[in-house]
Amino acid sequence: MPQPPSPTASNSQRAEQLDFFPSFRGQGWLPGETVFSWASRYHRLSGKVKAGKTAEQLFGRERSWFHTDLPAGIDHFVQATDGQLGSSTSILFDHTILPYYLLFRPKSHAHDAIQGIRCGRLSDVRGWLGMPGNRLGPPSKLKACRICLELDQRNHGCSYWHVSHQLPGVWVCPLHHMPLTHSRCSAPRDGRYRWLLPDINDLEPSGGELFSAMESGKSVLVALARIAVHATETAWEFEFDACRLVATYLTALGEHGFVEATGQPCFEELGAAFFEAMSSLNFVPEMLSISSDRHVAARQVSHLLKVQIHCASFPNLLFIAWLFESWDVFREAYDRIDRNASDICRKVSGSLEKNRERTS
Ligand SMILES: [Zn+2]
Repeated sequence: MPQPPSPTASNSQRAEQLDFFPSFRGQGWLPGETVFSWASRYHRLSGKVKAGKTAEQLFGRERSWFHTDLPAGIDHFVQATDGQLGSSTSILFDHTILPYYLLFRPKSHAHDAIQGIRCGRLSDVRGWLGMPGNRLGPPSKLKACRICLELDQRNHGCSYWHVSHQLPGVWVCPLHHMPLTHSRCSAPRDGRYRWLLPDINDLEPSGGELFSAMESGKSVLVALARIAVHATETAWEFEFDACRLVATYLTALGEHGFVEATGQPCFEELGAAFFEAMSSLNFVPEMLSISSDRHVAARQVSHLLKVQIHCASFPNLLFIAWLFESWDVFREAYDRIDRNASDICRKVSGSLEKNRERTS
C-alpha cells in the first residue's frame, strides 16, 4: 500500500497536539474499529462536553457534519494523533468502508479517491463512488451485533463500532450470524452527528419476525457478509480486470450448466435461477426489487456479464456469494483465468448483444 508523505504540523497544530496528547496516550485501535468509533471513545474519555470541540480538535472542523462511515479531515486526524494511529491511507483502508467501494475499480481510482478525500473533496468522492448520504439518499445508519457488543464490553471494557458491520450488504454479523440492528441515535440531528458508541438500549428492536423470516435466506446472508468482509479486508491485493471478472463468471456459470455449447450464457434459465435464490431474501428491504421481480433479477445478471471499466460492489458481491462458496474460492477461480481473456469477453459481448435484441 502506498504511504503518503509524513504530515508536517504547524506550531499551533503542535500546541494542539500537546494539549491533546495526555488524553490520547494509550488509546490505540480496537480490532476492526472505525475512525468514528475511535473519535467517539476519545470524546468520552477526554470528558469534553461539546461534540464540536472534539470534531475541531481531531478533524479540524467544529461542525461534525461528516459521515460516520468516511470522515473528512483525515490528514488533520493523523496530525492530531501525531501519526501514531497510522497514515491517512492506512486509516482510510483499515478503519473506514472506503475499500469496499473501490473493489471493482482500477487501482488508479483508489489513488484518486484518497487524494480527493485528503484534499477536502469528500462530497465529490462520495458521489463518484456512489456512496449513500450525498446526492443518493440518506446516510447509512450505524449497525451493531448484540453479541459482539457484550463481548467487546467484557474483553475491551467498552463497546465500539466495527467496520465489518457497517459494510453495505452486511445484514448479519459475520462471526455470530445474528441480524445486525440499527442504532436509533445515529441519524443526523439538525444536520450534525454526535459522538456515539453502541449501547444496547439505543439499538432498534431486533424483531422476532425478522429472525424467523431470516431462516430461509440465512445461508445467503451469511455468505454475503463473509464475502463482503473478506473482500474489503483484502481490497488492496485484488487487481480488478473487467475482462477477467466476466470470464470468471462465465467459466463458473459453465460449470453450473448455464452456458450453451456455443459459449453463450443461457440467459433465461440463468435469470430464473438467480431470481429463485434471491427470492429467499424478500424480507430485506434493500433487496426488495431484485427478490420480488424476476425481470429485475434477470437484467442484473445480464448487466453483470457486461465488460465495464468499473462496476458497483454490491451486485458483484451478491453474484459471487451465489456462484462461489467464499471470496477465496472466487479468487482462486479469478486467478486461474488467463489475463488475456479477450476471447471469452468477445463471446460474452456478442451473446449479450443477441440477448438485448431478443428482450428489446
Ligand atoms: Zn457479532
